[in-house]
Amino acid sequence: MSQPTADQLREWDNAHVWHPFAPMSAYVEECAPIITSADGFDLIDTDGRRYLDGISSLWCNVHGHRVPDVDTAIRTQLDRVAHSTLLGLSSDVSIQLAKMLVDRTPENLTKVFYSDSGSTAVEVALKLAYQYHHQKKNPEPQRDTFLCVGHAYHGDTIGSVSVGSIDLFHRVYKHMLFPTVSVPSPTATRVMDGHTKESWLQHCFDQVEVAIKANSDRAAGFVIEPIVQGAAGILVHPPGYLRHVRDICTQYNIPLIADEVAVGFGRTGTMFACEQEGVQPDFMCLAKGISGGYLPLAATMTTEEIFAAFLGAPSESRTFFHGHTYTGNSLACAAAIASLELFEANDLLTHIAHNEALMREKLSTLADHPHVGEVRQKGIMVGIELVQDRTTMEPLSAERRVGHQVTLAGRKRGIMIRPLGDVVILMPAPGMPSELVSRLCDETIASINEVTSSHA
Ligand SMILES: *Cc1c(COP(=O)(O)O)cnc(C)c1O
Repeated sequence: MSQPTADQLREWDNAHVWHPFAPMSAYVEECAPIITSADGFDLIDTDGRRYLDGISSLWCNVHGHRVPDVDTAIRTQLDRVAHSTLLGLSSDVSIQLAKMLVDRTPENLTKVFYSDSGSTAVEVALKLAYQYHHQKKNPEPQRDTFLCVGHAYHGDTIGSVSVGSIDLFHRVYKHMLFPTVSVPSPTATRVMDGHTKESWLQHCFDQVEVAIKANSDRAAGFVIEPIVQGAAGILVHPPGYLRHVRDICTQYNIPLIADEVAVGFGRTGTMFACEQEGVQPDFMCLAKGISGGYLPLAATMTTEEIFAAFLGAPSESRTFFHGHTYTGNSLACAAAIASLELFEANDLLTHIAHNEALMREKLSTLADHPHVGEVRQKGIMVGIELVQDRTTMEPLSAERRVGHQVTLAGRKRGIMIRPLGDVVILMPAPGMPSELVSRLCDETIASINEVTSSHA
């Protein structure tokens, strides 16, 4: 096939490509950039225009694009083998990567089950936890529900949607989902009527114990995005909450499933968010940043104890009957190994700490902006909540899509960002140089000013 022209690409995109999470008629009207290449932290479109990648290509890019070390690792692997199955076979790179993950995650996590997206990583954890209770030493097959946190997001497959609770994404499917028990999201951003900030947080801490106690014989697991709820709009949990959840789960023997798909690989300031409170989860779900943002790869990590419940003679059928075709893909594993090595060689945790402070400083100028309700930040994850009026926190009307207007204004200024409703999200890659992070903040502020002054 010869290289199509820009006009052909536009026409075929509109005719054939159904974009995720996109209202498609609005998408077609606005002629979104069509990316054909990248250079460092810039994405380049069919017209040669450059956009600074301000959301790490949906929260997964780690070192930028066309990173020599990662590119070389993939090319070298390509000269060996692109893919072979992990069903009944193994591969050198998937073994090496498993060892590297085990060495870097909390001590109790020693087993790695590969899949290919964050959703499947969560799906796998749910099925493993469920089956574990059927097969453990003193089986409890009645454990048929999961505890989860309000406003949670764990992916888009039916199981991962079941444990999520973002109404807009979930309400259509409600009859397809399995029942769960949810505890309120512990964030001062969503204080319920009748509560002060302090009494609300106390209520959220208390509710964990109440809900676990009430479901102590039915819960198969407690699912949580540790420290930061990303898709809810960067909701940052108060210190001690994750530890508290861990302690109560331990008390009632309920496996804790930590979904580190968004927060893993440095985003919150530590390699994994669980480290911040010394928490060892029973399952850890990894995806997004695992391959440096290059190729689809995910891992569900767990403990010797969970693993042991799946052992036995083949005829006993204690096996975990689950596996995706591209599980542990060799090119993706090679990229992941190179990405982890580079993470350490470049001392990215120190770099992240620097950029975290830089962003906090830059964005502090929004503190008294009339249309900025709140700037939430943990590590290098940022959510800027736009409102009609900062004094009353009255929300903007959804039809105006002000968050989206900020994205469009940003594109004209050469930055690529994507909001969650009216929360403007900044998610620079952990390896983004500080001068680019600085520019990203400046252009975002300028875009917010431009849009809110013309819409106010
Ligand atoms: C993005 C995300 C997922 C889903 O990952 P996909 O690769 O898009 O399936 C799951 N959990 C969290 C916390 C996420 O941010």
